[in-house]
Amino acid sequence: MAACHEHGMRLLIYFGYELSNIAPEWDLYGDEILVKPQRGGYHRGDYEQTAYICCFQSAWKEYYLTSIARMIDEYDIDGVYLDGTTEPFGCTNELHGDGYVGPDGQRHRTYPIFAVRDLMRRMREVVKSRKPDGLISAHMSATVSIPTLAFVDDYWDGEQLDVHERGFRLPLDAFRAEFMGHNWGVPSEFLSYLNKPFTYEESVPLALLHDVAVRPYARSGELMGMMSRVWDAWDTIDIERAEWFPYWAGGGPVTAASDDVLVSTHVGPGGALVVAMNATGEDRTMRLSLGMDATSVRELIRDREVPVQDGAVSIETPAWEGAVLLVR
Ligand SMILES: [Zn+2]
Repeated sequence: MAACHEHGMRLLIYFGYELSNIAPEWDLYGDEILVKPQRGGYHRGDYEQTAYICCFQSAWKEYYLTSIARMIDEYDIDGVYLDGTTEPFGCTNELHGDGYVGPDGQRHRTYPIFAVRDLMRRMREVVKSRKPDGLISAHMSATVSIPTLAFVDDYWDGEQLDVHERGFRLPLDAFRAEFMGHNWGVPSEFLSYLNKPFTYEESVPLALLHDVAVRPYARSGELMGMMSRVWDAWDTIDIERAEWFPYWAGGGPVTAASDDVLVSTHVGPGGALVVAMNATGEDRTMRLSLGMDATSVRELIRDREVPVQDGAVSIETPAWEGAVLLVR
């Protein structure tokens, strides 16, 4: 940990949503704390084991919070990366008070949203009281349950799209509702696995068009290159002081010659970051009038200079791909 901190890096430790059948707690607490009917079942072969979903209506909540506090106190970690933790999984486990017997005599699920909300509220206190700039970063899939998610610093959403084949298109209104974060007041990042279903040349402009970064992950070297150029560009234009003009609001200095080229632009003191997407199923030449003086334009996805002619640029763009332009 000290080596990370010496290099200006912060380290978040993974806290998930399951208990492994080879964990020391399994025999003592498994029946009491697992979601019933038992499900999940993530199998790992390196040390033969299968893990099942836990319920935070149970005493597991206290163990979880204590563990986070101890990891900060004893190891100086900088926060937690949560996997599915903010999701109130349905549960019938009467050993911790979940579920109910219906008129049919059968036991039915309840959803412990208040318990998960309490977990998250207290987790924020555990982290921020020890490290005011500590982070809670929550990965989940399609469950933007804001009563529980409101306490995190950012959420990472999109893994559920990996069931779709290449060629799947996410409706843009769905992106604005679920993946943007602006409407919830919680920053978001987009999770995009290569070709499941998007290429990075598709997912980076799709997300940035909505002011959402794509978070690189292990073995996504090409994506790391694209996003590190975008992070540098944010510094160059001074993104904190920039004004944003999203594509649906019409305005902004940059205009496309065609209605099916969508453009969002950040204009800051140090320049502009322009995201343009070819929102059609056909390859296009995107022609963009910049509406501002430009000494240089660099396209950050493919890392190349783009010539400016008569205040405009033309970029050959495959279907559903786009361009991210740093304009100085
Ligand atoms: Zn339960």
